[in-house]
Amino acid sequence: MTDGVIPLLDLRQRARLPRVPPLSQDTPLQALPLIADARGRPLRDLRISVTDRCNFRCSYCMPKEVFDKHYRFLPHGELLSFEEITRLAAIFARLGVRKLRLTGGEPLLRKNIEDLIAMLAQLRTPEGEPLELTLTTNGSLLARKAQALKQAGLRRVTVSLDAMDDRVFRAMNDVDFPVAEVLDGIAAAQAAGLHPVKVNMVVKRGTNEQEILPMARHFRGSGAILRFIEFMDVGMSNGWRMDDVLPSAEVLQRLREEFELRPLTPSVHGETAERWAYADGQGEIGLISSVTQAFCGDCNRARLSTEGMLYTCLFADQGHDLRALLRGHPGAGLAPCGDAQIGQALADLWGLREDRYSELRSAHSAPQRRIEMHYIGG
Ligand code: SAM
Ligand code: SF4
Ligand code: SF4
Repeated sequence: MTDGVIPLLDLRQRARLPRVPPLSQDTPLQALPLIADARGRPLRDLRISVTDRCNFRCSYCMPKEVFDKHYRFLPHGELLSFEEITRLAAIFARLGVRKLRLTGGEPLLRKNIEDLIAMLAQLRTPEGEPLELTLTTNGSLLARKAQALKQAGLRRVTVSLDAMDDRVFRAMNDVDFPVAEVLDGIAAAQAAGLHPVKVNMVVKRGTNEQEILPMARHFRGSGAILRFIEFMDVGMSNGWRMDDVLPSAEVLQRLREEFELRPLTPSVHGETAERWAYADGQGEIGLISSVTQAFCGDCNRARLSTEGMLYTCLFADQGHDLRALLRGHPGAGLAPCGDAQIGQALADLWGLREDRYSELRSAHSAPQRRIEMHYIGG
């Protein structure tokens, strides 16, 4: 393990036990009033990490030197089961969540992930609507699985791809994985009807900035929406430096030298991407400026880690132990909680939320310990 890297399990032990409200275990879960946090932000989007493992070693996320054969990934018994994930998602839907995104690690590595999707696809909002169900993947297993994912009820998929140039991409994923197989995965997702496929490109200055235009040329007119993401200072192990960030404004400038682009209005409130359309109708691109243009003011996202810790910010250093509510925590004298107890505990937690790390980053008031991206997902 590299010096200075805080092992994942250390951070996990820092999880807090949420306060359990004085309700009986049998109290039925009613539709709870829609909640807002301390800054008036509703809870709409839940990202669920279904595994902390990955078959890639992207240097900006799981660098090989840290995530090597000595690294302690979570043992299977620590993971939330599909039933536990579905139960929590149902409670979150009562609190206002309308969108579920499965992520990881690499979510398609979780065995029988289609079964979880089928279970989540059954959930309904208090108004009786299905939740929007999506998944973010590195695409390596997508060609094989796209059809089954669609059949299980997945609505859309986001595929990460950082370069068109095979040499650059193989070096970035650091496991020598070829571009062509990710492109096959994207094609399979499109053929299966997982529309629109979004493609995420993390742009790192000096590493893949020369790929911006080739990526735009490739996906223009393809039906897929390419999004450029600023390299973020998530976790403690990716050696992040501001010098490695290529600001979205510069990405846009480079694109506009070749293409005519027009700004689009956000399609939903709290959307992370700034959207631009090709003037000739050949589709759109997105810019996700998590470093240079903080979007905390609209942030309606919560994240559930692989073993059931809730994080109210991507940059939080401490989670809230929902697994202890589900399974009970004899050490803390806590019996397994009922749905209403968990719902009220979540409502109380969200009500206290004040996170706005990206806004504060420039003020140097960032927490010194941050959770890893592969553990709570993107
Ligand atoms: N393994 C899947 C994948 O790569 O799509 C899902 C999990 S991955 C953590 C989710 C997203 O986070 C990916 O699009 C990835 O590119 C992005 N990501 C990871 N580390 C990042 C970083 N340091 N800065 C910006 N984006 C990052
Ligand atoms: Fe794996 Fe995704 Fe992280 Fe790359 S970004 S190492 S594919 S989890
Ligand atoms: Fe949301 Fe935290 Fe990111 Fe701000 S820094 S947008 S609060 S996840």
